[in-house]
Amino acid sequence: MPESAIVVGGGLAGLAAASALAERSWHVTLLESRRRLGGRASSFRDSRTHTMVDNCQHVAMGCCTSFFDFCRKVGLDQTFRRQRTLYFVSPPSASRPYVCRFRSFPLPAPLHLVPSLLGLRFLSIADRCAVVRGLQRLARTPPDVPEQPFSEWLAQCGQPRKAIEFFWKVVLVSALSESLDRISVRYARQVIVQGFLASRRSWEMIIPSVPLDELYDDRVRAWFRRRGVMTRLMARVHRIRERAGRIERLELAGGERLQADHYILAVPYWAAGPLLPEGTRRELDRRGSLSLQSAPIASIHLWFDRPITRLPHAVLVGRLSQWVFIRPTEATAGGPFASGHSPSWRRLHGEASRAAKSPLFYCQVIVSQARELVRWPKNELIRLVVQELADVWPTVQQAQLVHSRVIVEHRAVFSPLPGVDVRRPPQQTGLPNLHLAGDWTQTGWPSTMEGAVRSGYLAAESVLRAAGRTERVLPPDPPPAWLSQMMFADSAALRPLGPPLVSEQR
Ligand SMILES: Cc1cc2nc3c(=O)[nH]c(=O)nc-3n(C[C@H](O)[C@H](O)[C@H](O)COP(=O)(O)OP(=O)(O)OC[C@H]3O[C@@H](n4cnc5c(N)ncnc54)[C@H](O)[C@@H]3O)c2cc1C
Repeated sequence: MPESAIVVGGGLAGLAAASALAERSWHVTLLESRRRLGGRASSFRDSRTHTMVDNCQHVAMGCCTSFFDFCRKVGLDQTFRRQRTLYFVSPPSASRPYVCRFRSFPLPAPLHLVPSLLGLRFLSIADRCAVVRGLQRLARTPPDVPEQPFSEWLAQCGQPRKAIEFFWKVVLVSALSESLDRISVRYARQVIVQGFLASRRSWEMIIPSVPLDELYDDRVRAWFRRRGVMTRLMARVHRIRERAGRIERLELAGGERLQADHYILAVPYWAAGPLLPEGTRRELDRRGSLSLQSAPIASIHLWFDRPITRLPHAVLVGRLSQWVFIRPTEATAGGPFASGHSPSWRRLHGEASRAAKSPLFYCQVIVSQARELVRWPKNELIRLVVQELADVWPTVQQAQLVHSRVIVEHRAVFSPLPGVDVRRPPQQTGLPNLHLAGDWTQTGWPSTMEGAVRSGYLAAESVLRAAGRTERVLPPDPPPAWLSQMMFADSAALRPLGPPLVSEQR
């Protein structure tokens, strides 16, 4: 008889855990409270354009080894495109906007990006040199550096104001979705070292070429079917019951009871508390795990009647709009798009509706750490963002904005505050057959798809260990490039804050 496990939560953490156990011939049931898998990495059907739109553009980096391991395993690896050039648009202070291309040069890591860094013309030469010095110093900082806000660290290093505003903030706020005073040095270091310095391709940006739902709902569900994972959607777990020091059963919202040998709870920290048995909840509460802080991300979805740029994406430096992603869309102004509208809407946007079958040009603007925007009227936000785009690309002034939408995810990611690591729980709980997964558990990674997949793999390792089979599920991190190791003397300085540092794994 194969051993059985129930995984609660169909986000990336739950999917990774279920896939790892299914591969090892476990009998797995996956319970998800919504109609689809993918959790926070999801899409929705926009009722006006009849197109699938991601709740927010999700990007991975070349250093996301576990995430790509998962994608390869479930057959998603052909559905991403790699961006080997990043396009930085100069800040508003420049008399005319210009683009700085950021790419690898044929030099060994960590020198491969130095020419691009020195080519960021919107920084003075002194500021660019200060950035390079800052990067070097950060790489030499040991991974277990004392907890401190990154803004303090930058001040101690004497980083100039513009270097902070136009480089550190641009890179780290979009990577961690927090302000620099709410990012710990450890996490800033992790992004810079793992992402930019450790190896030549770790910084490359990898973008899904299909909607997130197609990846994590359709395709993963099909893989699960082939592997015998029973996926139950709209199955909300109401309670996890303990008896005699073990989990005895789960209760669904409708009253149904389910049993298995092991249980993995892969829901976000704010949803875990009410489900857990009293003792485990108290333990996590004491540690502060159930009251982590979150940061919001806003995405502004815009459909224009014509192309506004030929770039595939752009990093807007020193503006409210941080990233712009251009996505091909099948929506047309006179096609299915026009048919769904009221006469008053069509009168308002008459010209676009009459333009029979003209394709719409879709772009998505991302504002990470969007705390200030949460209360803004959506129209005002759209107006400001469109104005910023028009400042960069004059075509926007002639283009008609045919449709727009704002989505604010209030609890998009957990805040990587100083001290957050001690509050993140290990995957094994105090009960031998209850395990935790989720980007908020101890992985050493920030709240990302990579962090979520790592947590799922670690939870699967925890299950296997509890079942008497010590097995590694997490793929090993590739070693840093030889020159990076030499330049930073001690390769431990380049090592990520990964699970080996998690002392509490039982
Ligand atoms: C706007 C936004 C932008 C982001 N951008 C990026 C990015 O560019 N790159 C990146 O790497 N990461 C990004 N992230 C972060 C990334 O999406 C998350 O870190 C990751 O998806 C978290 O996965 P998870 O499985 O831990 O949690 P979740 O995705 O939250 O999954 C938890 C699941 O549990 C289910 N659930 C909850 N309660 C119950 C219950 N009682 N019973 C059954 N099921 C339940 C939920 O419905 C959900 O599906 C972004 C997140 C957001 C919101």
